[in-house]
Amino acid sequence: MLRIEKVGKAFGRHQVLREVSLDVHAGQVLCVIGPSGSGKSTLLRCVNRLEVPDSGYVYLEGQPVGFRWTGDGLHEMTSAQLAAQRRRMGMVFQNFHLFPHRRVIDNVTEGPVVVNGLDRATAREQAMGLLTKVGLADKAGAFPESLSGGQQQRVAIARSLAMRPALMLFDEPTSALDPELVGDVLDVMRDLARDGMTMVVVTHEMAFARDVADQVVFMDGGRVVEAGPPERIFGAPEHERTRSFLSRVL
Ligand code: ADP
Ligand code: MG
Repeated sequence: MLRIEKVGKAFGRHQVLREVSLDVHAGQVLCVIGPSGSGKSTLLRCVNRLEVPDSGYVYLEGQPVGFRWTGDGLHEMTSAQLAAQRRRMGMVFQNFHLFPHRRVIDNVTEGPVVVNGLDRATAREQAMGLLTKVGLADKAGAFPESLSGGQQQRVAIARSLAMRPALMLFDEPTSALDPELVGDVLDVMRDLARDGMTMVVVTHEMAFARDVADQVVFMDGGRVVEAGPPERIFGAPEHERTRSFLSRVL
């Protein structure tokens, strides 16, 4: 589903990603852990080309992200082509970015109606299904500001899912939440994983990573230090840097 191949990225003289390579198979959950500043967010942003990598490629469903093959080689996509490819990837951030002046249901129907041209009735039906899935059907008519952070984040997840992405990217989706609100969001993500969604999750929730991930990646200094099944990364980390990070966060 997703292949990251030797992706490098610098900001000025600061090399933030160094030859990062990862594969995520359809239906798998990859959790990315590592200290602050290790390049996790930049990696996610390179996946959907919110940042343009300096080197390497990202492939989604076998297609290079941002490029297309023609008879005479690989060419940069037009912005419309890139936008279409990007819609295959849902992204959920730390701070939910809902439209504050739109009701919950309208936040969820906006993309499918405006971007995908879905008729409003079908979009509403689909949105109600998604809001039910994230446990917020009763909040359809509410405005975002009346919801808790955890509820807003669940709306943000429903809004992403409404675009029917092939892959979901999560960047510390629970980091901005009060501790008592984290569980409901993680439960929604757990359900999504169980339903077979392909997911890349940057998280500090080690228990979640241990339970849900098929693969855990530890990043430090812009590099993948080690990657493997959660039992191995948490149970028998090979690298000193991984061990010292885990001893600080577990
Ligand atoms: P993480 O998500 O692991 O905390 P980031 O990917 O956000 O790490 O950042 C990695 C490094 O890149 C940090 O040192 C950060 O300051 C730097 N960085 C991130 N985005 C930019 C940017 N747009 N311009 C300059 N430096 C950046
Ligand atoms: Mg980050």
